[in-house]
Amino acid sequence: MIDFPKTEEKILKFWKEKKIFEKSLKKTKKGKRFVFFEGPPFANGLPGIHHLLSRAFKDVILRYKTMQGFFVERKAGWDTHGLPTEMEAEKKLGIKSKKDIEKIGIKKFIETCQNSVFTYKKEWEEFTERIGFWLDLKNAYITCSNGYIESLWWILKKVWQKGLLYQDYKVVPYCPRCGTSLSSHEVAQGYKKITEESITVKFELADEPGIYILVWTTTPWTLPGNVALAVNPAIVYVKFSLKNYPGISDGIYITSKKDFDNYKKEIEKAKSKKGAGVEILEQTKGKDLIGKKYKPLYPNRAPYKIIGADFVSNKEGTGVVHIAPAFGEDDMKAGKENNLPVLTTVDEQGRMLTKDYPWNGKFIKEADPLITQDLKNRDLIFHTEDYEHDYPFCWRCDSPLLYYAKTSWFIKMSSLRKKLLENNKKINWIPNYLKAGRFGEWLREIKDWNLSRERFWGTPLPIWKCQIGKSQKSKVKSQKYCDNIKVIESIKELEKLSGKKIKDLHRPYIDEITFKCEKCGGQMKRIPEVADCWFDSGSMPYAQWHYPFDPDIISSQSSDNYVARNKELSIPLPKNFPADFICEGIDQTRGWFYTLLAVSTLLELEPAYKNVISHGIVLDAKAQKMSKSKGNIVLPKDVIDKWGADCARFYFYTINSVGEPKRFDIKDVQEISRRFFGTLWNCWIFFSTYTPLEINGFQQKRRENKPLTGYSDKSFKPKKGFESKSLLDCWIISRFHNLCKQVIEDLDRYYVVEAARLFEDFVDDLSNWYIRRSRRRFQKSENNKEKEGACQTLYYVLLNLSKLIAPFTPFISEEIYQGLKTKDSVHLCDYPKPNKKLINKELEERMKQVREIVTIGLAHRSEAGIKVRQPLSMLKIPMAKSQIPNEMLELIKEEVNVKKIIGGKKIELNTKITPKLKEEGIIREVIRNIQTMRKRAGYIPKDRILVQVSCNPDLEKIIKKNKNLILKETRADKFEFGKKSKQKPAIEQEFKIDQQKLWIAIKKIK
Ligand SMILES: [Zn+2]
Ligand SMILES: [Zn+2]
Repeated sequence: MIDFPKTEEKILKFWKEKKIFEKSLKKTKKGKRFVFFEGPPFANGLPGIHHLLSRAFKDVILRYKTMQGFFVERKAGWDTHGLPTEMEAEKKLGIKSKKDIEKIGIKKFIETCQNSVFTYKKEWEEFTERIGFWLDLKNAYITCSNGYIESLWWILKKVWQKGLLYQDYKVVPYCPRCGTSLSSHEVAQGYKKITEESITVKFELADEPGIYILVWTTTPWTLPGNVALAVNPAIVYVKFSLKNYPGISDGIYITSKKDFDNYKKEIEKAKSKKGAGVEILEQTKGKDLIGKKYKPLYPNRAPYKIIGADFVSNKEGTGVVHIAPAFGEDDMKAGKENNLPVLTTVDEQGRMLTKDYPWNGKFIKEADPLITQDLKNRDLIFHTEDYEHDYPFCWRCDSPLLYYAKTSWFIKMSSLRKKLLENNKKINWIPNYLKAGRFGEWLREIKDWNLSRERFWGTPLPIWKCQIGKSQKSKVKSQKYCDNIKVIESIKELEKLSGKKIKDLHRPYIDEITFKCEKCGGQMKRIPEVADCWFDSGSMPYAQWHYPFDPDIISSQSSDNYVARNKELSIPLPKNFPADFICEGIDQTRGWFYTLLAVSTLLELEPAYKNVISHGIVLDAKAQKMSKSKGNIVLPKDVIDKWGADCARFYFYTINSVGEPKRFDIKDVQEISRRFFGTLWNCWIFFSTYTPLEINGFQQKRRENKPLTGYSDKSFKPKKGFESKSLLDCWIISRFHNLCKQVIEDLDRYYVVEAARLFEDFVDDLSNWYIRRSRRRFQKSENNKEKEGACQTLYYVLLNLSKLIAPFTPFISEEIYQGLKTKDSVHLCDYPKPNKKLINKELEERMKQVREIVTIGLAHRSEAGIKVRQPLSMLKIPMAKSQIPNEMLELIKEEVNVKKIIGGKKIELNTKITPKLKEEGIIREVIRNIQTMRKRAGYIPKDRILVQVSCNPDLEKIIKKNKNLILKETRADKFEFGKKSKQKPAIEQEFKIDQQKLWIAIKKIK
């Protein structure tokens, strides 16, 4: 058997030496453009098996389009900014917090980031090459280059001019360790199940001492920030008295009716105890509670009020929510509506800012038990309970996240909701359900984009603010500060304003660039924040070309598009926009797929991509997420080194529908190698064994695209001029063109899985029917018409199949193609086109029926326990004979091994073995055993042999009777009976035939 990985290495060398990728681009240079965008990976981590999946799906489409004559540039790209890089740098420097970074200096930190960006670039390039993903790695775009950043600045300036960039004080998901807020996409990646203590707190009504309103919370650390309690005006609440209840102080309490009903049973139980009692005193709607004052938990504060809020539900807890505007989105909203103060009782490192309390300065999660204990001591806890729930952790550093009120910069995406949805309508999603589903839902609920990160290694926001309040107060006395803001769009503009030469746009260098405020003469300084790195990748369609700064990046078709497609902004289209095709994992739905659309919509352009394949994620065989800590990570190298890249690619193309998660099991890869690649390879081996290319009259080159067969109509009479008269030839050619037609239809719709699966059936038909049933023709002597027809047909099919499957399995197709031709590469060929005239549906349908009849016939044999080699007298089939041409009936006869076929009511096999049939069966067995021995001995068909047999007289009699047939079939010249021969056999073996012993020995004599 072929060593696939080794063969692939050989082909990689061939491609490299002959520059096949470059040639494929040169060949198509004048063709219509097919635009592809590469979603940039981070090169500071090693490529994983999921990258193989993405890249396989990208490559198949790109190769397909190239073979169809499109010009497909494939600019690689590298994502470099943001937390993934910063985390690695922190590890390298042995530091753990934002403070540490400030201590060692931003400059040193940035240098470390810069140096670690490409830690695994070489590994990535090798991986890309090894899996056969043709990508222009030499001209890759890099998100941290000055040019790239400048393009982002230009985009942000446009956003600013449209009034969509704004600063606001909002509650955002926040990582206290990284010291920055996160996007909702980032938050979605880090949910974990945890169990922690939840508490039900007693808030005493200010004007009704002894009456407590109950509030349930899982975050005691937010309580010092409490400024209100919220109830739902529509929910029913009850006031009840509790006496002598174990563990709870006597008193009068208020909670939702639903909450009360939940623990009614427990209360009833307690009631039976001596003296215990519970009594509902009043039932009321939430709206009646609004406006009541309650005593704050911590002294020195004025009493706060109960407010009404629709978001309060009684699904969980008491139906009363404690409001701390600094730590919740809803809280902030309620705070703004009710004019409540914002108490920031936690600092940016997640530590309590509550002087005079023992938990002051402690991290929030450490403060929780201390706060609870203090409330217990003061008899302000009604109940505590362990509570299991999903809690968000930082996807990078694993710290528990908090919701935290911060001043951040936002892009007003919510105002573009309609446009985003309209643009989404123009995108072809594969799988289609994502369009209205996961992606559409996301757009319908779209929130403003939290763009700023209080970090270091990222695209610095090009926003300069006047610092008059701090440094130049004396000049303008009338105002406390000047609110001038300037958003810079280019390096040139900044150099002009500052009078300085700008070398590196990163922090801290850019922070040193200041200029004079045009309003007040004060100093303009950059704000410290950098951009969300998802903004980098979402802007790649423009920034990869340094748009709009380089003159040659404007689309050649832009003259009509200049105004028509972008009236308001009046910008020319960048070249290669939009992408015809992009492809990434389903996890990018709310990541890159979104930010690409967001930025193009901001620029009032078409959606940045027309077609998108979004594939499922890779899990382990037990459907668990792969992770280092679980030790279940599969390295691409382990799969490729053992089974080859083609096999790994084909596994992902066929394992399940594109959007489903892939439960990666190496056994499935092994199975594909055996079933599909083994079979395909054997077809080629069969051809090369029986058809030396130098055969006379076999002018393959001339006939490469001219099949020799063709049956025009239902009568299955050969057309004039066709050289082969075999229905099998005609059938396989028809099958091929039908395959070709379907594969193209599927690939044009980006249905990769559907297209790939077609090859599985075809290769089965080719090997297990066409070749199997044509074997005898191939074995005929050279210069035989029948042999020539079969060879021509198989040559034609293999050659065109190698082209048709080349985008899917670039290596094995090249190997087969190279075997059939001697120059250039399969990847420089034109993609085959179906010839509809050669598709004969009727014939294919008939052949399908024939294969079905054979399957049933063989099943009947196996039920009766009769070997296939034992001839039988008759098979009845339900169709009138005339419907199936004789040639096909012959195929059934041979395959089921029967003497005769007659039309019956259903498929029936006559299983009676007459003495004559039995004798024939025995002879077949003898012949087969001798053939096997010839093979074992390594004899070629030309070799003539001597056969010696020894057995009991009955068997000997049968063999003697059929001696000539055996001699002919086994290419033997002589027969000897008994073991007493002078000739020493080459090999010998004992068999059992029909319960009798048979000894056979053979020896080459000529
Ligand atoms: Zn973090
Ligand atoms: Zn100013």
